[in-house]
Amino acid sequence: MKYINDFLKEKFGERVLKICIDGGFTCPNRDGKVGASGCIFCSEKGSGDHLFRKPIREQVESYLKSDRSKRTNKYIAYFQNFTNTYAPVDELKRRYDEALIDDRIVALAIATRPDEINEEVVMLLKSYTEKYYVWVELGLQTSNEVTGKIINRCYSNDDFIRACNMLADNDIDVVAHMMVGLPNETFDDVKNTLEFINNQRVSGIKIHSTYVVENTKLAEMYERGEYKPISYDEYMEELVWIINHLRKDIVVHRFSGDPPKDILIAPKWMTHKTFIMNNLKKEIGKN
Ligand code: SF4
Repeated sequence: MKYINDFLKEKFGERVLKICIDGGFTCPNRDGKVGASGCIFCSEKGSGDHLFRKPIREQVESYLKSDRSKRTNKYIAYFQNFTNTYAPVDELKRRYDEALIDDRIVALAIATRPDEINEEVVMLLKSYTEKYYVWVELGLQTSNEVTGKIINRCYSNDDFIRACNMLADNDIDVVAHMMVGLPNETFDDVKNTLEFINNQRVSGIKIHSTYVVENTKLAEMYERGEYKPISYDEYMEELVWIINHLRKDIVVHRFSGDPPKDILIAPKWMTHKTFIMNNLKKEIGKN
């Protein structure tokens, strides 16, 4: 398994840390453009629960002043929550530039939905590649279109393929997001999703374990007994399978969720990230 920290260390000669940024965006699946209620698992903060909506420059400056930042001299400006390409391009440029205020920032990472990637956005992102390592994180979650409807993602596999190709054609790395433990999904669905990802022009993957947080549709399903979270053993079995069958050049950016403890409903085992990581290393070592 090629892990992101090692990949970045090799690329930049030292550790590279992420500055997680709330870019002040919303999402077309929340404001009515393609949907109003969002993906069923998405929290009120658009899956960025540790972030605060402050001016972008302030967020970057405050990170760079923090003790945490002292562990290295190189950083990634990471636009994390909601849909970070969902604005006119001049506005996108203004927001990205507001983050790129320090020469120690060597990379720009943008998380978004595949249906919000278009020619103009790709050209803007490409313009940053001269100075920065740029990657785009695209939601997929599953290649099962029926599950796609259940989770209300409101885009299709074809949207993902189209966005992926447009970015790859312009030398922008794509990191696919995949989820394990989605409603009604079996191990076979997970295998199919991985096969789908392996066949796309992606260079990285984020594997998320599905978790239930307060004030989401998934929480309502859980309360009504319509959704049963994946057990730790099932998750570990599926995760080990994924890692062992992932295309060898794909870099692993993440292999568990990072649920905010204060609003997490289930499953509670998911808060033990170090435990999961250590057990995964042991399990992979066995194969
Ligand atoms: S696309 Fe992302 S931000 Fe939008 S509702 Fe889904 S998970 Fe939330």
